[in-house]
Amino acid sequence: MSTKLLLTLAIYRIILTVGLTLDPTELLRLGLHGQFSFDPSDVETASKDFGGLRRANPLAVLHPSSAEDIVRIVKAAFESAHGFSVSARGHGHSINGQATATNGVVIQMCSSRKPALTIVSEKFLYVDVWGGELWVDVLRSTIEYGLAPKSWTDYLYLSVGGTISNAGISGQAFNHGPQISNVYELDVITGKGELLTCSEEENSDLYHAVLGGLGQFGIITRARIALERAPQRVRWIRVLYPNFSSFTQDQEYLISLHGQPDTHKFDYVEGFVIVDEGIINNWRSSFFSSSNPLKVSSFNAEGGVLYCLEIAKNYQESNADSIDQEVEDLLKKLNFIPGSIFTTDLPYVDFLDRVHKAELKLRSKGLWDVPHPWLNIFVPKWDNKSSMVTPDEDVFYLVAFLRSALDKGTETQTLEYLTDQNHQILRFCDKEKINIKQYLPHYTSEQEWIRHFGDKWAQFSKRKMEFDPKCILATGQSIFEPSFNPNNKASRR
Ligand SMILES: Cc1cc2nc3c(=O)[nH]c(=O)nc-3n(C[C@H](O)[C@H](O)[C@H](O)COP(=O)(O)OP(=O)(O)OC[C@H]3O[C@@H](n4cnc5c(N)ncnc54)[C@H](O)[C@@H]3O)c2cc1C
Repeated sequence: MSTKLLLTLAIYRIILTVGLTLDPTELLRLGLHGQFSFDPSDVETASKDFGGLRRANPLAVLHPSSAEDIVRIVKAAFESAHGFSVSARGHGHSINGQATATNGVVIQMCSSRKPALTIVSEKFLYVDVWGGELWVDVLRSTIEYGLAPKSWTDYLYLSVGGTISNAGISGQAFNHGPQISNVYELDVITGKGELLTCSEEENSDLYHAVLGGLGQFGIITRARIALERAPQRVRWIRVLYPNFSSFTQDQEYLISLHGQPDTHKFDYVEGFVIVDEGIINNWRSSFFSSSNPLKVSSFNAEGGVLYCLEIAKNYQESNADSIDQEVEDLLKKLNFIPGSIFTTDLPYVDFLDRVHKAELKLRSKGLWDVPHPWLNIFVPKWDNKSSMVTPDEDVFYLVAFLRSALDKGTETQTLEYLTDQNHQILRFCDKEKINIKQYLPHYTSEQEWIRHFGDKWAQFSKRKMEFDPKCILATGQSIFEPSFNPNNKASRR
């Protein structure tokens, strides 16, 4: 092909792209009370996320000042002749560009212009919050009343809309369910620009669609979240296991206690695998303090691996006298390595905000804003041929590989190496027929999404056609092709 022809084709492509692109004056004519930003640094922020693996530039960023602003922008996208994508962005803590909108509009839900909506009902034990509220701010508002949400994520600098679009899982989930099981009511702006209130009783199909709906059915502007009386303090304990089977046996015993009276169970159950003590891939929280001088390395590990069960018991100061005995009684039933107990006692708020400490430490070392090729998978109990009997419920684990990549690290710290390991893990599960499901899923083809959703795909796509028929919303998830621009996908970094 001659150079001239190539040039002509290149120019033609540019014209075609511009022809499909949103005109900024179209946005400004909407006369919203919030602010449209075309500022390169705002656009740059909205093009990236915590994962640092992908980039997709929006044309503009909207800092909304009300739900009405969002109604108008989504309606404009729905009615526009050429169409454009609109993605809500909470705190941008996705891994694979899920909150981006190529050439469209990103709505910055956590913006400083966000409406002040928080209302606590002491009588009915709920809080109403703006969809872009960070969980840490929800906690600050409710704790003033001695109340707090029941179910959390490990890290609180995530938005309510962002976690509700996934599930919101932490060590309380065995007891209270994930965060999506603790939402009474939502205000949602659908892909047609309609603002609807939904709950179990009202517009229930939309309500169920939006919970864990990956942002596909509407933008959450208000959530009504269940509260409980907040504990004042927490006994936070870590114990070690030499092998996987004793570790999981105790974990499964502890979660089987859900539904028992509070004094008979822990309030939080998680665990992790200790393969090394390096800070970069062990960012969740620090293990040692002056009150915990034990060294993990002093315990024998099979093959250099130890398993750490992390448990916590909440209590009120008025019950401080009995907490030692309660914890001792509960620990007696577990089979950890004798003497491997690490205990901390701290205010409830500090326990919930524990990961922030690790964030500050990593930030100070320049290790926070690095690529994060994370992989989160739900693993079913694969050993169902054994004679072991389990409770009637389905037992499954959320297994998270939360790694950080370093450009100048050793070979095993590079993005390529860690990404390849993620692929190997997924291939292994496939080969061994371990029917895992990804949490915070990322796929690029329709076939993979259909496989991911399994029996739920027909309902998921039917609901999409009902609530966002032009596939305008959350295009960064790459589940549905927008009707207006088939190549609208995030690109690799
Ligand atoms: C350090 C860290 C710790 C984490 N810990 C946990 C954990 O313990 N448990 C857990 O379950 N998850 C955890 N996550 C994952 C986290 O819950 C998800 O990535 C979540 O989506 C991040 O929230 P966000 O506000 O940053 O969402 P974003 O990344 O901004 O958005 C995620 C998706 O939700 C959509 N969305 C955002 N806001 C709205 C809205 N108001 N209405 C509709 N759709 C919306 C976006 O369009 C996008 O598709 C963690 C992530 C990080 C980075």
